[in-house]
Amino acid sequence: MRILNRAAFRLIDFYMKTTVVSAFDSCRRDEWRSRGELDERQAARLKELARQAARNTVYYARLFAECGFDPERAEPESLRKLPILTKALIRQNFRDLLAKDYQAYAPRITRTSGSTGEPLSIYHTGLSHTYLRALNFAGWSQKGYRLGDPYAAFAGGSLLPDTIGFKQTVYAWLQNCRTMPSYHLSRERFDRYRDRLRQKRIPYIYGYASALYDFARAVEGRHLDFSFLRGLFTTADMLYPAQRRLIESVLGTKIVDIYGNPESGLMSYECQQHDGFHYGMQNAWVEIADDEGNPLPEGEVGHILVTSLNNFSFPLFRYDTGDEGALSRAPCACGRGYLKIVRLGGRSRDYIVLPDGRHIHGAFFNHLQSIYSADWLDRYHIRQPSKSELIFECLCNRKPTPGDLEAVANEIRTGTHGLLRVQVIPVESLPMTRRGKYKLISREFEEEAAP
Ligand SMILES: [Zn+2]
Repeated sequence: MRILNRAAFRLIDFYMKTTVVSAFDSCRRDEWRSRGELDERQAARLKELARQAARNTVYYARLFAECGFDPERAEPESLRKLPILTKALIRQNFRDLLAKDYQAYAPRITRTSGSTGEPLSIYHTGLSHTYLRALNFAGWSQKGYRLGDPYAAFAGGSLLPDTIGFKQTVYAWLQNCRTMPSYHLSRERFDRYRDRLRQKRIPYIYGYASALYDFARAVEGRHLDFSFLRGLFTTADMLYPAQRRLIESVLGTKIVDIYGNPESGLMSYECQQHDGFHYGMQNAWVEIADDEGNPLPEGEVGHILVTSLNNFSFPLFRYDTGDEGALSRAPCACGRGYLKIVRLGGRSRDYIVLPDGRHIHGAFFNHLQSIYSADWLDRYHIRQPSKSELIFECLCNRKPTPGDLEAVANEIRTGTHGLLRVQVIPVESLPMTRRGKYKLISREFEEEAAP
């Protein structure tokens, strides 16, 4: 069975032009390498990337010259000469950022609006995609996970529950993943998932912290046996301590929280110390900087900037993730060599609350066709004045037609089961946090029993 399961992953690798099977093994070795060795490898890769960017992209050939940055002498410390790379800059310079030889790296275009409500398209390479997946699974392996072990995914990559396409179904099946779409969890749906988990004795659950929390609340106090569970992996939104305690006590196993910023190649996970996130240093170089891009001392909270070390198709130096945190170089008691991101505070990909108390994860809006394909939409913000109202505020690069706005409103209404009054309103500016970061969701009421 084990060989077959790995074979299924090899098939995915073949089809996706990735090497996740071998990278899964190498990542589990890499995390124990010495800090010195990891630093050295990271610096060497950074130099290669700088050479590639200077040679093969119009954008960096120009920028390096303007900033006096010598790619032959590229070092982590010299990166500070380069400005912060924002989503707006990527959009303005999309063609110039694409390497002349981008086809050589198994590129794939991906669309995201990240955690800040700002749609963006970038190219990824087979290798950066490989590491993102392998590092995620390496984080899971702390709970005994091996490639091919069954897991349930409490998340959703498609708009509506139960409408997962054929390709996604095959992809999930090959990974032994039971998809349990979780944007709108009803009591009936919770019951169905609970029964499937118990009947199949699925040992792992991967999902949005808010979805796992809702699920735990739904099964709380019913004295059900979940002793077959071996690990829970949360991602994408903030996991508040009270949520963690409730989920772990109801489901009877520990959580490994995962933090990633896929567009920049950043993937990180907690160890058993639960004191920050070890990040995969073979795929990303992380800096913490102030608003002007000056590096901040260790331990100080600032913008998390990432240089994607394996995206040779579409080099990104000092990409602003929109998240905030600090970096720790102190050796971790677990013995891993990877540096840690600590005091992570900016995962603003929050959730909205429905009148019946259910939560809808912010990523839900990412997957609405009318939003991600809107060429008129620069950025959006979701305001929830009360449990029954939602206001979708948008910054536009051209005047949207009434039909454009109505399409967004309709899709949100449908996706939230008609429980919300929805308005879509073009605005001139959007709210920012104190540190100048855009917010995705603002809830203007107290949620009862909030964590
Ligand atoms: Zn550790």
